[in-house]
Amino acid sequence: MPSRYGVDRASLEALLPGEPRFRVDQLWGGLYERCAPLENLTNLPAALRTRLAGELPTALEVVTESVSPDEQTVKWLWRLRDGATIETVLMHYDDRSTVCVSSQAGCAMGCGFCATGQGGFERHLDAGEIVEQVVRAVWRARPRRVSNIVFMGMGEPLANYDAVWAAIERIHADLGISARHLTVSTVGIVPGIRRLAEEALPVNLAVSLHAANNTLRDELVPINRRYPLEMLLEACADHLAAKNRRLSFEWALIHGVNDRDQDARELADLARSVRAHINLIPLNPTPGYAVRGTPASRVRDFRRALTDLGANATVRQNRGTEIDAACGQLRAEHEISVGTPRGR
Ligand code: SAH
Ligand code: SF4
Repeated sequence: MPSRYGVDRASLEALLPGEPRFRVDQLWGGLYERCAPLENLTNLPAALRTRLAGELPTALEVVTESVSPDEQTVKWLWRLRDGATIETVLMHYDDRSTVCVSSQAGCAMGCGFCATGQGGFERHLDAGEIVEQVVRAVWRARPRRVSNIVFMGMGEPLANYDAVWAAIERIHADLGISARHLTVSTVGIVPGIRRLAEEALPVNLAVSLHAANNTLRDELVPINRRYPLEMLLEACADHLAAKNRRLSFEWALIHGVNDRDQDARELADLARSVRAHINLIPLNPTPGYAVRGTPASRVRDFRRALTDLGANATVRQNRGTEIDAACGQLRAEHEISVGTPRGR
């Protein structure tokens, strides 16, 4: 059975045989343009809403919704219809509201410092499961308007390319969030970056670099052994040439591992070569990784070193650490507290 946000307009029409045409517009406009829950579409007859609720079930059921004390961050843990769990985060800033979505339940990439990676891979999400994360957050954000989407939740989006791209097209065309405000974050799947460069819609690319030499990157980000830095940087340069969209390097600062002066020099060289903007994120502690994040004073010095070397870098706020808002952490905490075995 298709889920509510996995169907297209033609399939919606097929579910309404004998109904006047304006019903399709009401349903489409309500679900996709306003992102309203079906039960709120009171311009549709109650009996029709009841029937559609059965025939077009939602894909996401709330397990927990956590709100930060300042109410600027909302994080959901959802259960999918087969029992897998995923996370979504809504973040309000002064000038924008951003939704961070998951692309897979779990992740097969095995980065040791990442809570999602520590739990292993469960399955790909389908496009409807990805789109619904955005729809639910758009409704929750009112009266604020969701302006940006980042694929920085659980999973590796470019390892689930077709579903992620189908979701991007729908978010752009049906939900009306411009492709220029969508960012795909990747650990560095080179064939996926090359496919992105050929797409018509110009999305932004974020590369989770974390190390700027192959020896260290092989260790922190195992997929580097398949797609080493030289290949990755070449793909980034080609993406930049093809799309001219902002490229960013994500760098989780790990104390004593990738926050030394030498790391700053190597990183600045790579970033300048492709005009990438560097986002520094102090590492969030996770249950399965002993090394800590870089202390605040060293974060500032590291950023200054990058700037002095002619690279652009900002320190990203660690949003919602008090509600376990880092990637994969809410699920990890939930599984510990309810006693579900890890890595099912
Ligand atoms: N798989 C993709 C997207 C999801 S991860 C990727 O790796 O890019 C989103 C971001 O969170 C990545 O930049 C990832 O490196 C970072 N991340 C993972 N674990 C983290 C942690 N413990 N502390 C800080 N950032 C982390
Ligand atoms: Fe997967 Fe990204 Fe976590 Fe690495 S950092 S394990 S690629 S989700």
